[in-house]
Amino acid sequence: MHETSDSLRREGRRIGLVPTMGYLHEGHLSLVGKAKELADAVAVSIFVNPAQFGPKEDFGRYPRDFERDRALLEKRSTDIIFCPEVSEMYPEGYSTYVEVRELADHLCGLHREGHFLGVATVVAKLFNAVKPHVAVFGQKDYQQLKIIERMARDLDMDVEVVGFPIVREPDGLAMSSRNAYLTKEERGRALLINRAIRRAEEAFRGGERKAARLSEEVRKILGSQEGIDVEYVAVCDIETLDDLEKIEKQALIAVAASVGRTRLIDNTILTE
Ligand code: AMP
Repeated sequence: MHETSDSLRREGRRIGLVPTMGYLHEGHLSLVGKAKELADAVAVSIFVNPAQFGPKEDFGRYPRDFERDRALLEKRSTDIIFCPEVSEMYPEGYSTYVEVRELADHLCGLHREGHFLGVATVVAKLFNAVKPHVAVFGQKDYQQLKIIERMARDLDMDVEVVGFPIVREPDGLAMSSRNAYLTKEERGRALLINRAIRRAEEAFRGGERKAARLSEEVRKILGSQEGIDVEYVAVCDIETLDDLEKIEKQALIAVAASVGRTRLIDNTILTE
């Protein structure tokens, strides 16, 4: 990978990177489209990163289909597909991790111990391997985006980190590789997550500024049906991710919930 990146850089080409765990959908492919706008050689990494999964999480059963991913990426004329092996990324004796403090102590970070340590570490390694000028991340994983922005800034990484809006199914469900786990009935229930967020958005537009009231709206809708297990509903500052009591101009409203065995996340930015 180093040779390819070095020679692209020597030719003066701007490299864009889209890190993924594969099992690609239109959300990932939109990031590729954005990277193509911002760079002239686009690399997509596909790596199911064991370091970001907890011992009880779904690393083993995470969906994988490299041939399908390759076909989708070739259709979008991706220049480089980078698929390192776990043993290349974490050879025996591997012992260096990147910890982004504070931002990780919110939302998913409170429920998935070590998750963002794994994320920041793998993204730092991907940046070192691919040497991108620009890297595109989805706002679907809003906390991840903020953590990577912080890491790049704090460690003086010479890469521009760009966020891209959430791509949704026509009925509002945020696209996710994990949606493949859902049965038809579970998928119906999963729709409530976005519906609940939209209800909070309506309340915000109607003038509600109290975070507790907005969270309550979301919880009420999610609680209206059996089989949705809410992990968190948070209304927080869009930069620090600190919980808010009252919204001034903007806030992130973020939800994590399990439908059956599938953990799903969604969010939106409330803005005046
Ligand atoms: P993943 O393969 O789930 O690790 O995601 C790889 C990248 O795609 C991350 O930057 C995600 O935030 C982004 N992504 C995943 N789903 C979506 C979506 N529905 N819309 C936009 N970006 C997404």
